[in-house]
Amino acid sequence: MRDNLIFRFMFAIIFIILLVMGAKFIWDLNKMTNRAGDNLIEKAQIITEQQKAIWEFMVRNQNKINYDTEGNFEYKHLSCSTTAMGVGAILASRTDYMIKPTNIECRNVLNMPDEFEIGGINWFKENQNEKEYWVSTDLDGKKVFRYMAPLWVEESCLECHGFPIGEVDMAGYPKEGWQLGEFAGAFSLTMPMDIYYEDIRQNLFSNAFFSLVLILLSVISIYFLMRKMVTNSLGKLEVAVAQIGEGDWDVKLGDIKAEGEIKRLVCHFENMTEQLADLYSNLESKVEERTIELEKANLVLKKHQADLEQMNLRLQETNAYKSEFLAIMSHELRTPLTSIMAFAELILYDPSLESEEEEHYLKEILLNSQNLLRLINNILDLAKIEASKDQLVLEVVDMADIISSVESVMLPLAKNKGLDFQIKIISDLPLTMADPEKIRRVVENLAGNAIKFTQEGGWIKIYMDWDKEADEILIEVSDNGIGIKEEQHRYIFEKFTQADSSASRKYGGSGLGLSLAKELIELHEGWIRVESSFGGGSTFIVGLPIKSID
Ligand code: ADP
Repeated sequence: MRDNLIFRFMFAIIFIILLVMGAKFIWDLNKMTNRAGDNLIEKAQIITEQQKAIWEFMVRNQNKINYDTEGNFEYKHLSCSTTAMGVGAILASRTDYMIKPTNIECRNVLNMPDEFEIGGINWFKENQNEKEYWVSTDLDGKKVFRYMAPLWVEESCLECHGFPIGEVDMAGYPKEGWQLGEFAGAFSLTMPMDIYYEDIRQNLFSNAFFSLVLILLSVISIYFLMRKMVTNSLGKLEVAVAQIGEGDWDVKLGDIKAEGEIKRLVCHFENMTEQLADLYSNLESKVEERTIELEKANLVLKKHQADLEQMNLRLQETNAYKSEFLAIMSHELRTPLTSIMAFAELILYDPSLESEEEEHYLKEILLNSQNLLRLINNILDLAKIEASKDQLVLEVVDMADIISSVESVMLPLAKNKGLDFQIKIISDLPLTMADPEKIRRVVENLAGNAIKFTQEGGWIKIYMDWDKEADEILIEVSDNGIGIKEEQHRYIFEKFTQADSSASRKYGGSGLGLSLAKELIELHEGWIRVESSFGGGSTFIVGLPIKSID
């Protein structure tokens, strides 16, 4: 029921009506109570004014009452006070109203004030400008309105109540010694309030009754109107939506009777359903089409993959043939080359050699043979690496040994070219596990390049250090040769790449030395980089991680 639109709507309406009615009830009650109070005061004022009028009438006619036509005085006991009391008694016998004159010191015991009246008397004495004093209270278990109006001493009062004090007046009472304008007591009126409360009750009851009838009528009309105009159509629409949700597109919305927004909603929904149904049927065929296309593409892809795999195999074979060919060729070239170098050295260091020209030629033969040998070695090594045949042969290595081995080969070449060749190794360089032959090849290639690209009179330095923080051995090979342009730095480590083709022609070389050095160092999980500027010399730095010796 909580989900039902009509009931939610009705609850909301009832709640709002009840809220408004509640506020109106409080407002009415307040208004009626105030009006009842005003009526009571007005009535009380009239009654006391009437009583005062009787009082004044008796004062004015005292002579007429107490003297006969011959002028003889005979007190008739119809004083103003006695008359007021008598009128009050008659009023009390006919109605529920009671009125009496009262004062703290009074001649008649019936006029003695009660608690409320004493309060009123004292209040008038303190507030002499006030003309009335009232309160709603309970008396003998009934709600009553009590009202008091003050009396002030006038000229006519003095005859009986003035001076001399104690003198007996015509009524036989001793005079009180009142003075003009003094407080002379008050009229005290007691009025029943039941009738007013009854009036209020009836008013409220009739209001509540009409409100309830109004609520009932509103709720019933809202219920039927909502059913007819909203929920019937919405309910049918809901059924249609559920039907579509279950995949049944054959919905008929024509029998929904609706007006205004709901009618438009039904129209939009009908359109949407048609479009969706159309889309859905198209979608199925499109998905089918796409699936077939995808399957075809997949087949083509598989064929390409197979082709690629075959090509890859062929490439691998070709590469293996190439590497093998290079290895054989290099080996075959190395043997005669080492013989040439050995014989050239023999002749060179033969003491019978005298001609300087011959010595120069022999040195040229030696230098070029060494360059050629290095080139062949590089080709051979690269071929091995590419064929993945090159494994590290790890052993305990003292870097100082490697450097001195490089020095023995490089120093004569440097000297020959008129270069200063220096080596510096820090004293506490640790031992490490490495492939000494490969490290030697790296340093030799770097030193060979340094000698090659440095002019006569220049210098070459090999410096070995230990980066304790990174736990690496650093090998720095620097020269003050021709240097390398900044933009060439990233190419020179690629195979068959040379920084400057004109320089290459001049200095010779194959573009393999650095790429081999990089491969060999990376086999050791190390790194190599260059710091150089054109014309400002070059420094190649190698970082070789220290591997602990088991
Ligand atoms: P190459 O056999 O040509 O020396 P490398 O791979 O050893 O082949 O070197 C690649 C290129 O890097 C060289 O051709 C040269 O241009 C440049 N290069 C290498 N080392 C130096 C160096 N110390 N000074 C100047 N250029 C160098």
